[in-house]
Amino acid sequence: MKDIDTLVAFDKKHIWHPYASASNSLDNLLVKRGNGVFIELENGQKLIDGMSSWWSVIHGYNHPVLNKAMTQQLGEMAHVMFGGLTHKPAIELTEKLLSIVPKGLEHVFYSDSGSVAVEVAMKMALQYWYAQDKGAKNTFVTIKNGYHGDTWHAMSVCDPETGMHHIFNNKLAIQHFLPAPSSRFGDVFDENEMEEVVSFFEKNHTCLAAFILEPIVQGAGGMRFYHPQYLKRIKALCLQYDVLLIADEIATGFGRSGRLFACEHADITPDIMCLGKAITGGYMSFAATLCTANVARVISSASPGVFMHGPTFMGNPMACAVALESINLLLKTDWKGKIVKIEKQLTAQLEGLKAMDAVKDVRVLGAIGVVEMKENVDMKILQKSFLEQGIWMRPFGKLIYTMPPFIISKTELTQLCKGICKTIETVYGQK
Ligand SMILES: *Cc1c(COP(=O)(O)O)cnc(C)c1O
Repeated sequence: MKDIDTLVAFDKKHIWHPYASASNSLDNLLVKRGNGVFIELENGQKLIDGMSSWWSVIHGYNHPVLNKAMTQQLGEMAHVMFGGLTHKPAIELTEKLLSIVPKGLEHVFYSDSGSVAVEVAMKMALQYWYAQDKGAKNTFVTIKNGYHGDTWHAMSVCDPETGMHHIFNNKLAIQHFLPAPSSRFGDVFDENEMEEVVSFFEKNHTCLAAFILEPIVQGAGGMRFYHPQYLKRIKALCLQYDVLLIADEIATGFGRSGRLFACEHADITPDIMCLGKAITGGYMSFAATLCTANVARVISSASPGVFMHGPTFMGNPMACAVALESINLLLKTDWKGKIVKIEKQLTAQLEGLKAMDAVKDVRVLGAIGVVEMKENVDMKILQKSFLEQGIWMRPFGKLIYTMPPFIISKTELTQLCKGICKTIETVYGQK
């Protein structure tokens, strides 16, 4: 076999990585396998995964139950088209999903990735109004600091600054952006922040198809946790002004925020909800867009009478089979108790960083821990130190954050938190 350096050099020369440069990117680490919370590198080093491979690997790597679900399904069929055909994995997964999502969501559309699930949600909203001869309701409103994916319409509702809207030559659809909610989760709700929102609804509702947002946790756009009352008020305003509500639960779904779905913090049901990331326990790229009976009925009732989307790999049986087992696995354990423990430990072990000059804020919700720095971080320097600490972290902007696999043990989580603290203290000096 070629040596590690040769492989990494080839990778660097020819393969794009997420948000990377083709000419002067950092070296990527060569991974051999994953096991439990560990990512094992080709050079033998084992790293605790502080990122759950971007929110998805909630049960850890190489889980025997999930492996078995995949291999069993492989023995039947890896794939079959979904147009005109169906299968048990899709039906059983749908039964399970509908039994756990907020009440009122009754139809499921499967696709291959989170961004596509968001595209599907936005198309649903547009077709919903088109079917009622209200084609003027064709723009979307969202809040700043959001993230909804990298495809075209999904990108149009990402934060315009962090999403770098300006580099796309004015070809992105223009949407409406309200300020990010200012009342934090756990603080007192400041009703004043609704003033601007209410007057926005009053002025613009006739051209609004939907309000799209990440419930409670704003992920890749800023790692902020906002007050459930804000979400409640948005839901009420959407009802009052006849605007659909799209909840993007792609990062928060399946327990991450301490509830199975973050919408539960506000006790609301959106008209349309997107799921992805952890849906298969990180085993496959897969996503779902759910909607209420009303949305499905209206879309199907008038011309063209069908919903205009149908990915080649829609409802892939391998993905459905592993998603079902991943959900069963989650529900079988005391996942809520486990998240509370992770939350307490993250709080106890990261909170001390608040005292440092370079640190702006430390916040924890569910199995998510965030250290916000005052200045943008230097990825190269931090990465080196994280590796020395035996942990895998992927900070961005001013944010050093972790959302570990739910199966992480107390000792492993201690090593992860200590590694984060040690790195920040070393790089930014004691204090
Ligand atoms: C990751 C993410 C997406 C996009 O999902 P992909 O699978 O990367 O396309 C959309 N919305 C939210 C909230 C996300 O966290």
